Amino acid sequence: MYTDTEGIILRQTKTVNGRRMVLLFSKKYGKISAGTGISEKGRSKAALAMRPFAYGRYEIFKSRQNFNINGAEVLKSYYKIGEDVDKYMNSSYILELTEKLIAEEQQNTKMFDLLLDFFDAMENRKKKYMTLVLAYETKALGILGYMPELSVCIICGKKNRPALLDIKEGGIVCRDCANNIDDHNSHTLIYDIDFGIVDILKYFSANSLKNLENLALEGDKPEKIKKILGEYISYHLEIDKMKSEKFLTDN
Ligand SMILES: [Zn+2]
Repeated sequence: MYTDTEGIILRQTKTVNGRRMVLLFSKKYGKISAGTGISEKGRSKAALAMRPFAYGRYEIFKSRQNFNINGAEVLKSYYKIGEDVDKYMNSSYILELTEKLIAEEQQNTKMFDLLLDFFDAMENRKKKYMTLVLAYETKALGILGYMPELSVCIICGKKNRPALLDIKEGGIVCRDCANNIDDHNSHTLIYDIDFGIVDILKYFSANSLKNLENLALEGDKPEKIKKILGEYISYHLEIDKMKSEKFLTDN
């Protein structure tokens, strides 16, 4: 069956005879592995659509077990991301994370649109890229149904002032209940949240990535939130540390 779909190239590897295997986040089918004879070299429209951070339209032949990309044209090339090493590193991390977050052959247009929003915002952003990365992670948790409970205490259910974030239990613990947890510092995956993380995550959830254009988290907040969100994601979505993660910087 011949079909076409918008898509974003997540990753590609060379195989034999000049062919490639492409991991495509397609709008129609979700994450698919597809073979192709189209090279990313050269200046043809098809070649440009095969490069990293390209958003394109892909002509696909779908057989029972395989996908093959027969043609491609670029809809938008976020080449500026590739021209800045920090943008490139942060965006590569988001591609790798997205690859792990989305399921094989399951359409997820909300995640697809979020990834395009991320590219748009990253291309225009001048600094403080980690703020954008953290916002993406938070919004992805929301889309995938894993957002931590941030409004009421997960123990008593009241809207008391939060004191801790319990990663395993998936939400905030109020001050009263925190006092009843003996020595919470000795528990793993429970964090003090007196530095405003709850309000920041709520703000990320409530705003589009475009609206966060002028938001830049200051001081050690990005690093602290990165650690907590990272542990939250790896605990609930069973994702291990990623190769690209160690290159992240908050420039
Ligand atoms: Zn409570």
